[in-house]
Amino acid sequence: MSDWKRSIYCGELRPEHVGQEVMLNGGVHRHRTFGDLVFVDLRDRTGLVQVVVDRNRVPDLIALANSLRSEYVLAVRGTVERRQPGTENPGLATGTVEVAASDIQVLNTARLLPFQLADEAGMQQVDETLRVKYRYLDLRRPRMYRMLELRHRAVKLIRDYLSDRGFLEIETPIFTKSTPEGARDYLVPYRLEPGKFYALPQSPQQYKQLLMVAGVERYFQIARCFRDEAQRADRQPEFTQLDVEMSFVTQEDVLELIEGVTTYVVEQLSDKQMLRPFPRLTYDEAMRRFGNDKPDLRFGLELVDLSDALRGSEFGVFQAALQAGGQVRAVRYPGGAALSRKEVDVLTEFCKEFGAKGLATIAVNELHPQGVKSAIARFLSETQIQQVLDVCESQVGDLICIVADPKPAVVASVLSRLRLEIGRRLGLRDPGKLYFCFITDFPLVQWNEEEGRWEAEHHPFTSPYPDHLPYFDTDPSKIRAQCYDLVCNGQESASGSIRIHQADVQARVFDLLGIPAEKQQERFGHMLEAFSYGAPPHGGFAAGIDRLIMNLLDEANIREVMAFPKMGLGYDPMMDAPSFVEEAQLQELGLRIVPHR
Ligand code: ASP
Repeated sequence: MSDWKRSIYCGELRPEHVGQEVMLNGGVHRHRTFGDLVFVDLRDRTGLVQVVVDRNRVPDLIALANSLRSEYVLAVRGTVERRQPGTENPGLATGTVEVAASDIQVLNTARLLPFQLADEAGMQQVDETLRVKYRYLDLRRPRMYRMLELRHRAVKLIRDYLSDRGFLEIETPIFTKSTPEGARDYLVPYRLEPGKFYALPQSPQQYKQLLMVAGVERYFQIARCFRDEAQRADRQPEFTQLDVEMSFVTQEDVLELIEGVTTYVVEQLSDKQMLRPFPRLTYDEAMRRFGNDKPDLRFGLELVDLSDALRGSEFGVFQAALQAGGQVRAVRYPGGAALSRKEVDVLTEFCKEFGAKGLATIAVNELHPQGVKSAIARFLSETQIQQVLDVCESQVGDLICIVADPKPAVVASVLSRLRLEIGRRLGLRDPGKLYFCFITDFPLVQWNEEEGRWEAEHHPFTSPYPDHLPYFDTDPSKIRAQCYDLVCNGQESASGSIRIHQADVQARVFDLLGIPAEKQQERFGHMLEAFSYGAPPHGGFAAGIDRLIMNLLDEANIREVMAFPKMGLGYDPMMDAPSFVEEAQLQELGLRIVPHR
């Protein structure tokens, strides 16, 4: 038996341990000398405890204690004692006790760290790239350990929940063939036949469907996915999703499962409020009421359509928009009537940034047509103003923010952003709430202007509603899919669909997407063939684990909830990856580097 092994964790010590002799292992979080006393905050993964070395009690130990530095690794033997009244630390779970050291072994020394872990406020200012370069040090912070622990618990709860319901966790390959989810693939060269590549999975989509053809019926995986796309605060090139597929199910069955597993995890790990059952909106309804398919339901302020009310107005911008088949819509800004001209200009700029030509406003000082202040009032009749007040269900103090454009999509996108901005300004986006909702009945395809072709709104395996099949030949934009998203506080948190399980329907969708027959065979022949051997009806979903953890921790930056994240442009400063490789390796792979022009 080694004489340095811990008998108890630092963070576990409580008054009930007073009088016990303990052996602690950990790192020096902080240390200071105070007359005859040296204090060391010793840290292990459970937390901190104060160790005291008293010259009067252990004179032989004081020189060693004075030589300690931050992050030295120690084994400390000592007795748990109650702290003197007045010296307790209520900010620390172990703050009523301390350990009087009788012996200290230095298991390892440490150089000065590139940042000071004990200074949590200072850590907030440290350059993030430096933190990621030294992630193994950054992760020593109790806050980061708590994140890792929460993440572990969330994944365990998911595993328990699904296992209890008969799901099997099955791993699917990482070296595979391109599976479209709308991003670029990461490719891995195949040494034995230069010119051939594996693709890393954008999702396990095809494998999970093939597992349904295989008769597994209930599959899940905590799956790593790889997508080469522009990074954002909530996106990483590799990320983790809970991937699920089920056979012989309807959309309703899948939605119930998503709601079940989500609430199970959220309720166990937080006291955040949810709306139960999760509200459901169709895509069309979400677009109409909120202007986007990811509505933040923590507040109202729904968009209103003023097209009818203002059709006869003399305001040129409204006329032009409406004559071109566009829309005039608005959102209320409670209290906004008090904004100065300058402040309204800021709002106008905000709208322009997202594509609006301008912003028209009506300040509601009193609830009748003469009680409003607006630069466009002279173009509107009293009846029209009254109608605007009525349709908007205005209140005194509102600023009615109106956007008009020939393109309804522009109006929707600008106003949905403005709505969120107003919600933010008014403090309505309460982090204590996790307001999930389902969006259903998405369009199957959307028109890609630039490329002049239809593309899948979700992915090409999504099943259209059977009674919408005739629209394939008439107006594909009308086809609605058995496709759903789970949205939380304005962000997508899961998405899925009932899949196509008939080879002929799948081929029709590939046709619609403009994938020629030979390409269909080359890329997806295995799917079409599999469906011809008796594929059960099936459906599923994938939910972002990183986002779930972000929501539980009120964290806006995805890197804060990952052990080893990548920085901008996919760079890992800790491993210095990606990096150049030896010429010999390139040769072996049959690759030659052609510099970017
Ligand atoms: N494969 C989809 C995705 O990764 C999820 C699904 O349809 O199950 O977004």
